[in-house]
Parts: sequence; C-alpha cells; structure tokens
Amino acid sequence: MEPLMEDEEFSIREVVLPSLIPVVPEPELEREDGERRRGRDVIIAVDHGPNSKHAFDWALVHFCRLADTIHLVHAVSSVKNDVVYEMSQALMEKLAVEAFQVAMVKSVARVVEGEAGKVICKEAERLKPAAVIMGTRGRSLVRSVLQGSVSEYCFHNCKSAPVIIVPGKAEAGDESIAFDRTLSVRKSPSMAEFAELEAQDGVRMPWNIIPVATTKDHQPIDSEIPVSAIYTPLAPSTSLLPYAPLRCRTCRSVLNPYSVVDFSASTWGCPFCFNRNPFPSTYSSISDTNLPPELFPHSTTVEYLSDSSSSSSSPPPVFLFVVDTCLFSDELDFLRSSLFQALDLIPDASVVGLIAFDSLVRVYELGFPHCTKSYFFHGNKDCSKDQLLDQLSFFVKSPKPSSGVIAGVRDGLSAEDIARFLPPASDCQFTLHSVLEELGSSQWPAAPDHRPGRCTGVALRIAACLLGACFPGAAARIMAFIGGPSTLGPGAIVSRELSEPIRSHKDIGKDSAPYYQEAVEFYEKLAKQLVHQGHVLDVFASSVDQVGIAEMKVAVEQTGGFVVLAESFGHSVFRESLKRVFQSGENDLGLSSCGIFEINCSKGVKVQGVIGPCASLEKKGPLCSDTGIGQGHTSAWKMCGLDKSTSVCLVFEIAKRETADVVLQSQINQFYFQFLTYTQMVKRGSGLQLFQEDGSWELKTYRQELTNGFDQEAAAVVMARLISFKMETQPEFNPQRWADKALVNLCSRFGEYQKGNASSFNLPSQLSNFPQFVFHLRRSQFVQVFNNSPDETAYFRMILNRENVSNSIVMIQPSLVSFTFNSQPEPIPLDVASIAADRILLLDAYFTLVIFHGATIAQWRKAGYHHQPEHQALVHLLQSPRDYSDTIINERFPIPRLVICDQYGSQARFLLAKLNPSSDGNGPFSGGSNVFTDDVSLSVFLDHLRRLIVH
Ligand SMILES: [Zn+2]
Repeated sequence: MEPLMEDEEFSIREVVLPSLIPVVPEPELEREDGERRRGRDVIIAVDHGPNSKHAFDWALVHFCRLADTIHLVHAVSSVKNDVVYEMSQALMEKLAVEAFQVAMVKSVARVVEGEAGKVICKEAERLKPAAVIMGTRGRSLVRSVLQGSVSEYCFHNCKSAPVIIVPGKAEAGDESIAFDRTLSVRKSPSMAEFAELEAQDGVRMPWNIIPVATTKDHQPIDSEIPVSAIYTPLAPSTSLLPYAPLRCRTCRSVLNPYSVVDFSASTWGCPFCFNRNPFPSTYSSISDTNLPPELFPHSTTVEYLSDSSSSSSSPPPVFLFVVDTCLFSDELDFLRSSLFQALDLIPDASVVGLIAFDSLVRVYELGFPHCTKSYFFHGNKDCSKDQLLDQLSFFVKSPKPSSGVIAGVRDGLSAEDIARFLPPASDCQFTLHSVLEELGSSQWPAAPDHRPGRCTGVALRIAACLLGACFPGAAARIMAFIGGPSTLGPGAIVSRELSEPIRSHKDIGKDSAPYYQEAVEFYEKLAKQLVHQGHVLDVFASSVDQVGIAEMKVAVEQTGGFVVLAESFGHSVFRESLKRVFQSGENDLGLSSCGIFEINCSKGVKVQGVIGPCASLEKKGPLCSDTGIGQGHTSAWKMCGLDKSTSVCLVFEIAKRETADVVLQSQINQFYFQFLTYTQMVKRGSGLQLFQEDGSWELKTYRQELTNGFDQEAAAVVMARLISFKMETQPEFNPQRWADKALVNLCSRFGEYQKGNASSFNLPSQLSNFPQFVFHLRRSQFVQVFNNSPDETAYFRMILNRENVSNSIVMIQPSLVSFTFNSQPEPIPLDVASIAADRILLLDAYFTLVIFHGATIAQWRKAGYHHQPEHQALVHLLQSPRDYSDTIINERFPIPRLVICDQYGSQARFLLAKLNPSSDGNGPFSGGSNVFTDDVSLSVFLDHLRRLIVH
C-alpha cells in the first residue's frame, strides 16, 4: 500500500440536501452526558452499491444516536461531470431522508474527486469523526481480491478515526453487478458509475446528454450510434408503493419527480404534454415538506402495487412440455432424468401438460389415471384450434358453442375437459412419471441414409392451440426439448435425405436454402398466435446437428422465451439451465409473465423501435418515428415472458427542430423519458431525466458536456444489437464498414490531436476504451458469423438481445484473469502475451468459461504434486480459478460451458480464439482505405485509427 500523500489536493462539491428534511430538534441537554450532548461526527462512505447501503443501514441501527451528524462521502472520478454529480446527489438525498426518518440524525454530504480510499482517509483527517463506517464486498476470494481494496486501504491507512467495516450481505443479483464492475481492466471509473446507474434504475444510455443543436452554430452530432437506452424493466427497485399510480389526464404518463407541483392550487404539471392536472383528494395533505414518495427527487424508479393484484390471487402458471422422441436412447435417458428433476421443483399449484413427437404428435391425457392415454396427429399437416379440440373430444359431453371464440373456462370449455390434458401438477405426478418412463425412442427408426421424421413445427402448433383454447391470457410456457432438425411438415428446415446438408450462412445468404423462408414464415405466424394468447415459447436444443433455432428465433424472441443450446441433454449447460428455470431462492430467475411495456417521451423525441424480447402492440401515435427498427411503429410492446435480467434496447430519434420559437425551445431543451412496465403482479414506472442543455454554450463546452455523458459500454452494446439486427434484415449491410465509420466519426469529433501528427492523438477517458470495444466487436461471434452455424449465430444474438450492458459487454470483449503463486488474481489484457507457463488463466467469454493451465502448472498437476502435503500452495492455486468460475456460473443463465485445459492441449483453442494476436508477427498493414482488414492486432488497429483521424 502506498502511503497517504499529505499534501494532495482533492476537488470537492458539497451536496445541497433537499428542504423536505425537517430541521433536527435540539437534544434535551440536561439529561445527556457530555459526549452525547455534543453529538458525534460519523463518516459513512457511500456509493451506489448494495453493500454500501447495507453499511449505511447498519450504522443507522447500531451506531448513530440522536444529535450525531452523519457525513456522507462519495468518491467519484470527476466532480465536474454533472451526470455523475446528479447521480450522487440523488443518492445522498435519499440516504439523508432515511437517516432522519430512521435515526433522527442529520446529514451533510460531500462528493469528492479521487480514489475512494484516499478520499475517505482525507475526510477522516479533516473531521476527526467518532468512526468511519464503510461496506465491504464479502469475504470470498473473488470478491475480497477484486473489491475489498478500498476498505482494506482505509483500514491500514486511516490514522484519524476507527474504521468500521460492515460485512456485505450476500445477494446474488447485486453481486453480479458489482463483480463485473471491478473485474475488468477496461473500465474507467466513470464506467463504474454508469454501471451503478444501471443497478439503480436499470437503464443505461450511450448518450446521457442528448446530442442536438439548438442554434445554427451547433452542428448536431450525427453519429451512427443513435440516442438509445438499454432498459431492464424488472431490475430490483427501491420503493414499492401500495397504491395505484396517478396519471396525467391527457397523455396518461405517471406523476414523477420532474412534474411541476403547485401546492397552493393543488395541481401538477405534466412534463411530457405540459397539461395541468388536479391532485385527487387522497393527495390533499401534500406540501413542500410533505411529499408523496413518488415525488422525492430520487424516486426515478418506483413500483406500484395495483389493486387487482392484491384482491384476486393470480392464476397458477402453466407448463406444457413438448418432447422430441427421435433421440438415441441414452439422450432420451438424460432428458428424462432432467425432466423428473424439473417436475420435483415445479410448484404443486402449477398446471402441466405433455406432448411428444417424432413423425407423429402425441397429446397425452394426463388427467386419465388408469393407463396411458394419448391422441395422435399427423406430423406433415398443420392443425387448427378447432380441429384440435374436435379430435381431443372436447365437445362430447357439452356441445361446441356455435359461434364466438373458445377461450378457456370463461368461454366454451369445461374445467373438467381442460384438466384432462392440463391438470394441476399435484394431481398427475404419478401419471406423468409413468408416461415419461414409457417414452421410448422413436418407434420408426430412420433408414441409414435418412434423417428421422421429426415434425417439430406441427408439435409446437398443437401445443400453442391447446394452450390458446384452454388458458388464453394465463402465464403459460411451452417448453420444447428438441434433439435434431425438423424434417416434416411446416417448419421443416431440411429434407430427410442425409445427402442434403442443413443450410449454412452461405446458403441463406445466396438464397439457396430451400426450406428457410417457408419455415421462418411458419414461425412468424406461430409467434403472432402466441403473442396474441400471451404465451411463451422456450426452446432447449441439445444436438450436435442444427435443429432450426435460426428459423424459430422469431417465435422465441417475440414471446420472451428462453433458448438454451447444448451438445447433449447430458451436458451441464442443458441440465443446470433447466434446473435454474424452476429453482427458487438465491439464484431465482424472477420469472414474470404477461408484461406490457410502454413509454412516454418529451416532444422532440420519437421512438424508432425496440430490439429485444418483445412484440409490438401496434400502438401508433405521434411518438412513433416513421422509420422502424426491430419492433417498431409503436409506443407499447407486449412481453409475454420476462425475468429479472430481461433487457430491451430502445432506439430513439431526435427530431430536427427548425422552430425559432424561444419559448418552445426552452421547453424542449429538457428531455424526459418515462418507461412503464405492467406485469401480472405489479406495475412499475420509471421516470428518468436525462438531458440538460443550454443553447448559449460555446461549441467546445458543448462537446465537453456530450463527452461527459457518453457511456462507452452502453454504446458498444447498442452497436452490437444494431449490427446484429442490420445483418439479419439488410442483405447489403457491411458490419465492419459500419462499425469503422461509427468509430472514426466519434473519435475524430471527440479526440484531441494536431493535424498530421498521429502521436498527438488523444481520447478523453470517457471514450478511451471505445476503440478496443469496437475492435473486439468486429472479431466477435455477432459479426464473424461464418465461424458458426446459423443456429449458433441466432442463439448468441438472442442472448445478446436480452441481457443488460454489464453482461453484454463480456460477450463483446471477454475478460481474462490471471492466477499465480506470488500475487493475487488480477485482470490482465486479453492478449496472447498474457499466456505464461507458471500461470493459470480464466477466460470469461460469457457463453464459455475457460480455465487454462500454463505448461509448468499442468506438468506439476499431472505429476500429482497437489496430492503431496508440502504443496498446499499448488492445491490453493488450482482451486482458486474453480471457485471463481463457480461464482460466475451460479449467476448466469443459460449456464455457460466450462472448459478446463492445458497449454498446448487441443482444448486450448477455446482460449486462443479469443485472444488478441499481439502486435508482433503480423504483416504490414495495408493502409489508405477506410476499412480495416480482419485479422490485425489491437495495436495495429489503433495505430491505423489514429493515422486515419489525424490525416
Ligand atoms: Zn401529460
């Protein structure tokens, strides 16, 4: 640890706390002893993380007394960055309110620039407090090494006051964010702050200050990266309000901290449409010292509990299993045992059903207790809901209604009939078990030169029709387990002749995949049906062949379903992922269903669309842009299935303004977004202010402001989603050229340089890692699709399209951590130069984790040194990366593949493929063109970028 520098200067901004905190009454002096009368100063180090909050809570309950003063200290990368400052301010306000409400103590707050450890020690020296209280991030190896440094630093260096370190409480979801934040070398402090914003509101935007011009001297920033947001609707929220939201009468937006409240007239002005709304009588006691929680300045994310959810219990979830039986018997055994495990975890109240298929589809009557009873359907013919109900004898006892749509027990069907095929899990445990036991491999084995007849499409259609008839609008999932390509009926992707290969990217690109278009159209129709019914399609594909994920993508993605791709049903990627779906507790996925997502924006902002797991509700209006991206031309979307991590990417368009109207301009210089998500259980609204702009700024200041608000990780992730989308929908799109253009455009606008002098080129810290992200994005599976099958590409993109920024950035630029005898695990550059014989490396490429033993360590292990008592250090070294990878595996869905390999071993390719080929040994770069060649090293890439820009 380096000693504290006594003379170091710290930039400071005091935080003005809101007036809604009443003045602390003076303590009754006579009855207090000396110390208590004086009150003590207590420093609490805060950040946006859960452990800091935990330490704060601990301090309020266990340490602070009346008349104490809490000094909240937040260390940041720059006090001049307004985006960062406002985030801090919001946090401090919230804590100050809480400190007063819980412990009746007053707070003062400071934002200080600098390294957290030093900042806190310096403040302690200044205030000589009774204690310095701070959180830690737990005691496990991974966390203490990568995150404990601040508390450790203070513990050793703070001479002015005792340091109390409050151990963090283990919360899986929180950890993953914090973990990722400090893990990687590539993140500058400001990125950590954006990650905190993501943890707080579930939102990240590339442009936190929106690039528009208000005077003609200001050129609008015309970037390839649009104004956009990655939003995680069900990210943990802070406040849950037990009443319904108050809405604007004109535009239906929800009351939020940016509403202008007139206390005397008891009205509020809507920041979106500027309409004035009266407060209802329930708000009659409102005043500037008595605000409802949704108006607190920090209440940017609020959750409302609607009346309906508390009065009526929500219907049980429905799981309809669709099982491929064209499997080798060992694969079928693996699948069977996983299904048994899943059934053990399913809540008793849920409803289950079973459909099996090969060249025929069998629908099982699980409600029939005496023997196995099933109904057969031909696999080469599509089936309608009416045909299905007729064949399943739904109208034997009660006649079919002559008109109208059949919709469960409410309309046309009897509960008894429904329970024949979809009974409560508790009622059919035995039948379901015995049916699964009896499931044999396909009765009609294929000829040697043929693929088995597999009618995946018809099986899924029948499942959709059954759910649509019996449980429309309920939380129902079709869970399909597929072991090979569909070869029969609608949705087939290849013929049964083995001589005909399954389509490749090349075939699809050349339009020579004869089944592709028709299959996609079939799944588009299925998607429409499922979205209409509110049901989810999950696909668990386990096959060495392709099964048709590329074709099914539309139906899975639009319904918010899961996709898991593994080589075998025996593989942990499948087994553990399926288990996780049903697991409750710490690593619960937080499944939610029947969500609707809506947005409100200020005038001047239009929405182009959403890239992510949702479907358009076709709510058209002035908010919709003429150009559509992804699910576009709407301002509301249906999310049939969503969970805690589901993240959508919203793409906006900032309208050009030609108006000279000063009043209108000042109104539209402030942009607001409000995201509203309704799920079957709760409503959640989020109002978020994102924009400050003053038309009188000089161009330079303006650029500086834009830079401060630039989130390079969010920008890279938005680029990855856009590139994937464009590659799928625009045949002529050149992803490398587009990425290069975006990069060069941004770097030449925001970089500092002297013309013609490449070495003078310098990027501000907010962009410093952006070129590296683009370099890795160009090499990633999202762009280099020809290294993968169409199924794999579809799989990677579907996961990218549903994860948040912290997770997605690992998919783009994997992280690498080194483990050695002599030092703590540390993140190291993703470069072949990082390989060493006496090191273990852990690569996190999101879908795959690789533990790579250097040659010497592999040798020692093979010689069995770790079994000898004198080599405990080796035991520890071998175990560390395993503990580390376990932490990651426990937090991720689908479960990543773990590869353990040795230097020079064949599996080492999993690591080598992701590493940057160091600068040496590469041929000279063919300069001059705007397009970079593909296999250059990072340094050549950056060098060329510099030369191109200063040119
Ligand atoms: Zn309004």
